[in-house]
Amino acid sequence: MIPKNHPRYHSLVTREELIKHFEAGVVARAGLIAHGRGEAFDYLIGEETIEPALRAIRAAACALLLADRPVISVNGNAAALAGEWIVKLAAVVNAKIEVNLFYRTKEREKTIESLLKSLGAREVLGVDERFQVTIPELMSERRRVDSRGILIADVVLVPLEDGDRTEALRRMGKTVIAIDLNPLSRTARAASITIVDNVVRAMPKLVEEASRLKQMPRDELRSILSSYDNSVVLSEVLEYMANRLRKLVEETPKAWSKR
Ligand code: ATP
Ligand code: MG
Repeated sequence: MIPKNHPRYHSLVTREELIKHFEAGVVARAGLIAHGRGEAFDYLIGEETIEPALRAIRAAACALLLADRPVISVNGNAAALAGEWIVKLAAVVNAKIEVNLFYRTKEREKTIESLLKSLGAREVLGVDERFQVTIPELMSERRRVDSRGILIADVVLVPLEDGDRTEALRRMGKTVIAIDLNPLSRTARAASITIVDNVVRAMPKLVEEASRLKQMPRDELRSILSSYDNSVVLSEVLEYMANRLRKLVEETPKAWSKR
């Protein structure tokens, strides 16, 4: 039991979720460490969805709604932390869901597939070996993609991705939407649209935004998307972090003297 008034309540609940899913075979050992790196950056933005991230979420919703063949790429951490929202988003924007693992085992793929299906997913790609093809740009296990999914996708959402693969997907000409708390990672830098936010907060917001924008004329979505500039958004995120740290530097001596 975590007391609700604990200053890190949400973070602790998320950790418990990850541990539970690690024990169930959904999350890889390295996934626990990767989450910690993300949390460090969450401190810097104040553990809330900041304005530049909201703009990236809006552009991402437009890109997904305008796509011909959108795919949501899912790894263990994404399934554990946002499985329900991945399934909801797929329904709203009519996207396929594909399991794609860095630490790939047949068993973990199957466990993630079952989890997503228990949350309402009708079809989960990336597990059936008959449809597996390899993309030439990558050496790791992750070069495997589903010939019905990522291979032919025009827009790929990667909540939590590795830099190499993001770069490979871009080289294949795909629009890549990443959710990554670290604005300095290769993933954040290489993606077409980078949502610098915790996947736990960003996914529900993305579902909400896509549901809202779905009612709008497609021309309006195109205009929102074409005015979006990812490098501007990334520098605004860095500026936000820098300003916040500067403010904390100014406040800290006062807070200390009150003790
Ligand atoms: P890259 O490969 O893109 O250069 P990296 O090697 O530093 O990045 P990885 O280990 O590939 O990082 O992936 C971990 C990253 O995933 C973390 O740095 C963090 O930014 C991001 N991340 C982890 N958990 C979350 C989360 N809950 N929400 C958003 N981002 C997260
Ligand atoms: Mg990496």
